[in-house]
Amino acid sequence: MKHVVASLVLSLFSGIAAAQAYPTRPVTLIVPFAAGGPTDIIARITGEYYSKTLGQQFVVENVAGAGGTTGITRGAQAKPDGYTIMMGHMGTHGAAPALYANLKYDPVKDFQPIGLVAGTPILIVARKDFPAANLKEFVAKLKDPAAKVKQAHAGVGSVSFTTCTLLTSQLGVKNIVAAYRGTGPALNDLIGGQVDYMCDQIVNLVEQVKGGSIKAYAISIP
Ligand code: ASP
Repeated sequence: MKHVVASLVLSLFSGIAAAQAYPTRPVTLIVPFAAGGPTDIIARITGEYYSKTLGQQFVVENVAGAGGTTGITRGAQAKPDGYTIMMGHMGTHGAAPALYANLKYDPVKDFQPIGLVAGTPILIVARKDFPAANLKEFVAKLKDPAAKVKQAHAGVGSVSFTTCTLLTSQLGVKNIVAAYRGTGPALNDLIGGQVDYMCDQIVNLVEQVKGGSIKAYAISIP
């Protein structure tokens, strides 16, 4: 399992002069996943803080698709004036180049990092009535083809994708997978019982685990 970092980036070659006041108008903060997921929540908390401390609105725009690469591509192609920034993470700026042959951005050359925002452990969570009482039984289910276990993730290259792929490859199993535009909508389906499990950042899972609408088997240790 991986320790995940979310970080803010902006397109390179920003025209902001050092002495000039910034920002003088609202800033768009692109979240490359659907609303309600970890990236979205972290971005909204961060954006609200920036709005308060910098005196301009930081407007979150969800541009989801292709494991986060659609939104980051949009940001990379925006005017590099500091008024479009993105919430990237290990998927969009780490895994994506290895998984997308025609990626339209270079994670190193096309962005200027602003800073690290969050480091988040990963939980393995399942629907509340998944028939496994502990990690050992959960692994046994994954290994049983007759169980037809269905895993949710946020698109190829997303953190939920890469972490669960690491898990299943280590176990030597293949699950049925369902790709979502973010793990916010995936979590809704996990709660609704349409999918069996996922591996995701802890951010919006704790309350659901505590409330019993899903259950957790394991946590990564950062
Ligand atoms: N947690 C997601 C991921 O797997 C993205 C999201 O925040 O919705 O990368």
